[in-house]
Amino acid sequence: MARCTKCSYLLMLLPKRSKYKCAKCSSLFPQIEIDNKEFREWNQRQRLHDIENIKPEKKPRKRLSDEERKRRTKESAKRWRENNREKCRELSERSYYKNRDKILARKKIYRQEIKDKDRVRRKAYRHKQINRTRQLARIHWWRQKQKALALRELKNIEEEAYNANIFISPLTSVHYHLLWHFFIKFLNRIML
Ligand SMILES: [Zn+2]
Repeated sequence: MARCTKCSYLLMLLPKRSKYKCAKCSSLFPQIEIDNKEFREWNQRQRLHDIENIKPEKKPRKRLSDEERKRRTKESAKRWRENNREKCRELSERSYYKNRDKILARKKIYRQEIKDKDRVRRKAYRHKQINRTRQLARIHWWRQKQKALALRELKNIEEEAYNANIFISPLTSVHYHLLWHFFIKFLNRIML
C-alpha cells in the first residue's frame, strides 16, 4: 500500500487526475512516480522473499557416514564399469598379468582355507551324530567283508565250472542274495 513520503500516511488514488493524494496532509504525488516507487519496493521485497525461500535448499551438504560413502563409491564404480566395459576388461587383463603370481598365491590360500573349513565342518557334523557315524562305519566294514566273501565264492564256483563239474551248493551265508545275480549271469554264460 502506497504511503505519503512526507507523513507516511496512506495515500489515496485519484484516478481521473492520475495522482495520489495523502488523506492526512493532502500532498499530491503523480501516480506514475508512486507506482514506480511501489513497484521497486515490491520488487525488492520479492527478491528478499525469494532469497529466503531458496536458502533452505542451499543448506550445507550433509556429512555422510562411512558406510554410506562406501556404498556410493561402490555404486559409482559400478556405473563406471558398466559404461566402460572394454576399458575395464583391458585394465583387468593388464593387472592380471602384472600380479599373476600374487593372484594365484591368493587363490591357492583361499582354496586351502575352504578345504580346512570344510574339513572342520564335516568333522563337527560327524561328531554331532556320533552313533549314526559309527553305525555307518560298521555297515561299510561289513559290506566290504561281504563283497570279499562273495567274490571268493564266485571264484570257487567258476573254477568248478571250468572243471566241467558243476556242483551248486546251497549258499547259506548272509551274502547269498548278493551273489544271486552274479550266479545267474554266470549260469547264462556257461549255458550259451
Ligand atoms: Zn501526508
